[in-house]
Amino acid sequence: MARRIVLLILIFFTYSLMAFPQGSSNGARPVVVQGAMKSETEKLASHLDNVAVEQVGGWTFWRGRVNGYPVIVSRTLKGVANAAAATAIAIERYNPIAIINQGTAGGHEPGLHLYDIVLGTRAVSIGAFKSPYRKAGAGSNTLDWIPLNLMATDGSAGNDPNARKVAQFSGDTLLLAIARRAAWRPARGRVVEGVIGSSDVWNDEIDRIDWFHNRYGTSVEEMETASAAQIADLFHVPFLGIRIVSDNTTNGDAYDQRTGEACQDYVYQVVMAYITTATR
Ligand code: SAH
Repeated sequence: MARRIVLLILIFFTYSLMAFPQGSSNGARPVVVQGAMKSETEKLASHLDNVAVEQVGGWTFWRGRVNGYPVIVSRTLKGVANAAAATAIAIERYNPIAIINQGTAGGHEPGLHLYDIVLGTRAVSIGAFKSPYRKAGAGSNTLDWIPLNLMATDGSAGNDPNARKVAQFSGDTLLLAIARRAAWRPARGRVVEGVIGSSDVWNDEIDRIDWFHNRYGTSVEEMETASAAQIADLFHVPFLGIRIVSDNTTNGDAYDQRTGEACQDYVYQVVMAYITTATR
């Protein structure tokens, strides 16, 4: 008897899971908005109606609605590994229609100032390199390093000439167009387009920053966008990085944590504009 009840319960749960797959209430696929830190996600999460908080391992997801449309705010934690895992979890669990990765970043050109916002036409990985051989005692010079695209080949990345390019991921055309058009303009700072460079390194060496800027056109650097973009690309989910300048060692602008809030204000407008387009 007990076994039969357990079986019935199992059948009921299996059926209800099939009938209502997660993330597709009303058939609408949610927009996922990512940020690494509390200071980059708290304000967005506070805009959601009917919020349910879901914890998956170390990652938190706030599932709710904006103007009736499903939106999920995801705290990815810092760094490329955490951002990649958070992206894969979000895609598998919630089947998003689009992913926006946003938050703070360090400027790679002196003309960019605190509160300027960069819409990522591209995201590049500035964390994967092969060093040329140097004998013991010969020291190290990162400016000699050769980029590695770890997605370019199934064979040895270090030995395949095709892999000696920086890995880059384009921002989704529709998301970019909507972000560009978002009527709202921030109180402080400009909105520009540019390349977002990602790695687990915080670079404060001006020569190295200039090297990235000259070779790969980086406008800003941070630690999540390119890795989230790589995962979104493998799942064919439209993706855009939006980053606000929180510090800029090339012109002396010191880190300001409140930029994280200003970025969320802008991204909230982009999300609302996207929803209007997506649900039309
Ligand atoms: N200063 C912060 C720590 C930020 S650590 C604090 O004390 O809390 C780096 C985080 O900020 C990452 O999530 C990264 O995406 C972002 N970031 C902002 N400016 C950066 C920079 N110049 N280089 C690398 N990451 C930066």
